[in-house]
Amino acid sequence: MPEYVCRLCDQVFSKIPEGSVDLGFRSRCGKMWKFPAGRVHCLRAVKPQPSEHQKLRNHARWHVTRNISKPDCIYCAQAKIEGVQL
Ligand SMILES: [Zn+2]
Ligand SMILES: [Zn+2]
Repeated sequence: MPEYVCRLCDQVFSKIPEGSVDLGFRSRCGKMWKFPAGRVHCLRAVKPQPSEHQKLRNHARWHVTRNISKPDCIYCAQAKIEGVQL
């Protein structure tokens, strides 16, 4: 399920509240909504963080096969610590 992040106030919403008004235009940051409370938010759908399973699959597919090590990949970091040959 996607979440929405507002580029104006950095709040994250799990869904757009019922009764919100689509202001009908997009800006660079996303889509403008007026919430029932009256505040305007600029919402962009964000994908939830990839699951561990997906991360491991990405690691095997993109890092191991190309013999590269990504600093933001925990599996690459693990392999480095354990001295495992990729
Ligand atoms: Zn906002
Ligand atoms: Zn990796």
